[in-house]
Amino acid sequence: AVEVRDVHKWYGAQRVLNGVELTVRPGEVTVILGPSGSGKSTLLRVINHLEKPEIGHVSLNGELIGVRRHGERSETGVPPAEGRGRLKELTERAILAQRGRIGFVFQNFNLFPHLTVLDNVAAAPVATRRLKRPEARELARTLLDRVGLADKADAYPRQLSGGQQQRVAIARALALRPGVILFDEPTSALDPELVGEVLAVIKDLATSGTTLIIVTHEIGFAREVADRIVFLDEGRVVEQGSPTEVLDHPTHERTRDFLSKVL
Ligand code: ATP
Ligand code: MG
Repeated sequence: AVEVRDVHKWYGAQRVLNGVELTVRPGEVTVILGPSGSGKSTLLRVINHLEKPEIGHVSLNGELIGVRRHGERSETGVPPAEGRGRLKELTERAILAQRGRIGFVFQNFNLFPHLTVLDNVAAAPVATRRLKRPEARELARTLLDRVGLADKADAYPRQLSGGQQQRVAIARALALRPGVILFDEPTSALDPELVGEVLAVIKDLATSGTTLIIVTHEIGFAREVADRIVFLDEGRVVEQGSPTEVLDHPTHERTRDFLSKVL
């Protein structure tokens, strides 16, 4: 499970996250909706420890992300998320190891331009020494097949459409067999006709039991894949529930107002 507990994040005087609470159980698909500037990307970045929260913490399967309790010796063990004691920053190496368990798919694909599609997918398992190069490439082929791009293994990112690049990025995220994959508006940089192929791949992950947290403005897609929809506003979870609850029977004015603009 991913657990976000009372997370606060601010930049100078600007409070961006104001006590976010979120639990995502294994295999669950959570879609985060909210207006621009409500803190959706910041929340994903905090989960991945690309940003450090000023208050609160995040854990993945019971292990704190980015920090450990003061006095705990091991950085490789599984420190309890609950407990007393000051938090101490993990080493960069330990943080990188944790990030390997959290996949991140960005709006703008962020592929390595100088690597082939196959090596984009195979790079991380090799760099983290989880797999030897031939095994990583074998895995990469399987994953490219899964996202429908087996025939593009030897192409370079610039030779692909945006939708194809994003599918490579998804295969790359899968290559580390993460406990959860975070998506930050994965289709918002795509031409409309390319959105469907990317959503189809994410939907396939959703139905195969991968734990997903997805920020998107694709409401129809959210309705189809989400176990739970979380509405974020001004850095707070204002409302959450099943798609029917949140989309058809929103109880908060802010949610109704937002939905009236995007639906
Ligand atoms: P959008 O839908 O437009 O992507 P969002 O909900 O993802 O919005 P965030 O990107 O999380 O919103 O930003 C929330 C607020 O935090 C914004 O007001 C933004 O300007 C501010 N912010 C985000 N990152 C930084 C940063 N590194 N430094 C200063 N302010 C930041
Ligand atoms: Mg954002």
